[in-house]
Amino acid sequence: MIKKAFWGLSTPQINYEMLPVHLPETEKIPTPERITLFHPKNDALNVPSALGVGDPVKTGQKLSLYPDQNYYVISPVSGTITSLSPYTGDFGKSYIAITITPDGNEIIDDTFRQQIQSPTLELVSNYLTGAPGNAPLSLLADSNGRIKTIVIRGLDPDPMVATSQYIAQSRLKDLKKGIQILKDVTDVQDIILITAGESIQGYGHIGARVKSVKAIYPAALPHMVMKDVLGQVVPAGKTCEDLGVCFFTAEAVISIGSAFESGQIPTSKIFTFIKKDGTRKIVETRIGTPIGDILEAFGETVNEFDRIIFGGPMTGSAVYALEHPVQPDTDSIIVVDRDKAAYISDYPCIHCGECVRICPAKIQVNMLVRFLEANQYEEAADSYDLYSCIECGLCSYVCVSKIPIFQYIKLAKYELERAKTPEAADA
Ligand code: SF4
Ligand code: SF4
Repeated sequence: MIKKAFWGLSTPQINYEMLPVHLPETEKIPTPERITLFHPKNDALNVPSALGVGDPVKTGQKLSLYPDQNYYVISPVSGTITSLSPYTGDFGKSYIAITITPDGNEIIDDTFRQQIQSPTLELVSNYLTGAPGNAPLSLLADSNGRIKTIVIRGLDPDPMVATSQYIAQSRLKDLKKGIQILKDVTDVQDIILITAGESIQGYGHIGARVKSVKAIYPAALPHMVMKDVLGQVVPAGKTCEDLGVCFFTAEAVISIGSAFESGQIPTSKIFTFIKKDGTRKIVETRIGTPIGDILEAFGETVNEFDRIIFGGPMTGSAVYALEHPVQPDTDSIIVVDRDKAAYISDYPCIHCGECVRICPAKIQVNMLVRFLEANQYEEAADSYDLYSCIECGLCSYVCVSKIPIFQYIKLAKYELERAKTPEAADA
């Protein structure tokens, strides 16, 4: 039995850093020699791939291994497919890695442009799901009008990351256009732009309500926004979408606005790059660019046991290959020197209570950990509030025994979801 909804907020005092009033230009990385895209793989579909090695592709072309299914990626370059290979992502998710070698001769696919005079949710969903920002368009399309509010993140959920903040402040015209398109193609008329206290100015006539949150982590996480801005507590085991609210990044909305403004599907990703010395850059590159090219562009070397984190310092995860590409939802890449990296240990829990004190959901984290370490996920969910967790990572951050609590929690939720699938039932 689930005991408790997320219900309170302690004050960990990790602040979000605000960008300066005069925004820097993005630092642009040239198109790499190889682009890699992760196309979702459906193991249940035993059909021949509709794509093959040697196929030419255009910039902005929709690439789908299974044309009858709603899975696709967008080619960010013109060139040739040079390999198709299986790839296993976080928690064993299956993909096909599509590698494209650009030929330097940019040809824009105009299939989308031919249809933009009549925007519909189907059109937006069919072409812009893989655009920068990774808009949750299929969720919107499948909701049958259940989603009544869209929240646009103009503030990044993780501290140190400034991608959404930068985009919301620097691309107002496309943001306004994207908001208008979303209103036109959905039943959603309440759109809220989330920003932090000091940066609320400058968004007049944008077509959305502008609301600020405290510049203190984890105020910009969805569950916190639901509670502090919308006055709704998400019950344990439910999602924001269950309550009719859907979250978009500012970049996802801008991708929609820019696509309808220009007729071209955007293919460049903006993200925050944090070097080992803590220097923060706002970088722009083609989706699919390998991390190795980004490190090289900034003269950053990675030594044994240094860490490369995709995502923010609290909720991101490490990658282990320099070929790992920038993806539509990569909002930050952080390089951490081995001497500063927080390594997990095999020390046992000493019941210091730090995780319990800092947990915004007031979970008995020290008890939850016992069950997670023993892979007893159902017990963790039934008796120790696994589904009340809002995935802030603060427990891992403060754990004196360096137990990877946050990773255990994500794995447990993933495994419990997987156990509900038909494949798991048949196994
Ligand atoms: S990640 Fe940890 S601190 Fe954050 S809500 Fe979940 S259990 Fe609590
Ligand atoms: S912070 Fe770590 S060591 Fe302390 S009670 Fe929580 S899990 Fe145990």
